[in-house]
Amino acid sequence: MDYIDPHVHMVSRVTDDYERMARMGCVAISEPAFWAGFDRGSVDGFRDYFRQLTDFEPRRAAAVGIQHYTWLCINAKEAENVSLAREVIAMIPEFLGKPNVLGIGEIGLNKNTLNEATVFREQVDLAMKTNELILIHTPHLQDKYKGTRMIVDMLLDDRRVDPARVLIDHVEEHTVRVARDHGFWCAMTLYPTTKCTPSRAADIIEQYGDDRIMVNSAGDWGPSNPLAVPDFVMEMRRRGHADSRIRKIVYENPLEFFRQCRNFRYTPPDTLRDLTPADPV
Ligand SMILES: [Zn+2]
Repeated sequence: MDYIDPHVHMVSRVTDDYERMARMGCVAISEPAFWAGFDRGSVDGFRDYFRQLTDFEPRRAAAVGIQHYTWLCINAKEAENVSLAREVIAMIPEFLGKPNVLGIGEIGLNKNTLNEATVFREQVDLAMKTNELILIHTPHLQDKYKGTRMIVDMLLDDRRVDPARVLIDHVEEHTVRVARDHGFWCAMTLYPTTKCTPSRAADIIEQYGDDRIMVNSAGDWGPSNPLAVPDFVMEMRRRGHADSRIRKIVYENPLEFFRQCRNFRYTPPDTLRDLTPADPV
């Protein structure tokens, strides 16, 4: 089945992963800017990362027929350095015109601190001034409910924010309603151990329905599985769900959300032509 992985950090994955994803039916991915495992020392570290996300990764993905989209931001873990965060926020507009940029993300909270909240609000402000979509990271810690609630409250406080243009990620059983009840989109992350497993995600779909919801692997440099979306497809089939319903969650819903981005130019895979192969790496 064709599918889209709307959250995967391919800068941390090898080309073999792109190939295996393509063989399993992956036709497009979106890659949010995230924490590299260490704090970057300067705004130029972020500028180079954004060049990688907007120039190199799209070519590496295109070589196997996958369309690559991305999101730009300074992540919550590095937001404690407010002055560096402000330099990065001022630099982001250099890249917002690139053809694969979907918006600002993944912004959010990590430990729910005051500095994180300040930097979060300033990035929402940037998204509103530049008319960009927003992708939200919710905390993984025991504070997930509290962090999600704080994020939703900050978004609802800003009257310019249209919830239909915001995707709240890493939702679980106890946070899916906080997000969706206000009209936001949401996504479940399928991790081998933490967050949602494919079977927990299928339970959530059975309980809350398939509107404004999607699933992703959030594959990165830690323990994660870039083929987690196909695992979810198999779990849904095992439970007897129709392919049309599964396709809505893994393909049509991400497309419907992304299409709100004015830059979004998706080419259905059967019409793909003139793929530009990446240089050997
Ligand atoms: Zn992520």
